[in-house]
Amino acid sequence: MDNADYTEVALRLANTELGSLDDLRAALHDEPWWSERLHDDDLAVLRGIAMGIRRTLDAAITGDHDTVLTETNHLLETYPPRPRLSGHGGKAGMPNWHVHVAGTDAPPATEIAAAAAWGLAQGVVDHGTRRWGRCEATGCGTYYLDTSTNQAKRFCSPRCANRMHVAAFRARQRA
Ligand SMILES: [Zn+2]
Repeated sequence: MDNADYTEVALRLANTELGSLDDLRAALHDEPWWSERLHDDDLAVLRGIAMGIRRTLDAAITGDHDTVLTETNHLLETYPPRPRLSGHGGKAGMPNWHVHVAGTDAPPATEIAAAAAWGLAQGVVDHGTRRWGRCEATGCGTYYLDTSTNQAKRFCSPRCANRMHVAAFRARQRA
């Protein structure tokens, strides 16, 4: 994983209900190293960090830089990344070298939370605070990072954009 992937982990946690292990597995579906080892205890830890990420993103969206700083540093302190070199999953006697942000014997939540805290901090470093947003579609509210050149993103997905455009079109027709 690189910094952009870790930022994606932070966003996924912010955008997941975390009502059940299935919610969490769905959010981490392409990370079997995590999703296959999840346990109920992990869920409670990740609910805590998800709240902190949402508070940070809300602060970024409203331009409250002091809160972005204190919330992010609080997350880094509570869920500190502890880089560890690992070689598991290699082929033909050659280790698959990669870095985990926690010991490989730590519960998945320890590493996921550290990855998310690190990803949030790096996301602010790489993109500043003005590219974060929340989908404006009715009933959505998904957090997103707008990496487009014109920074005109208002919706999380083409699906939400279409839904709102159709609703606006119908409203105009009724008027
Ligand atoms: Zn949306």
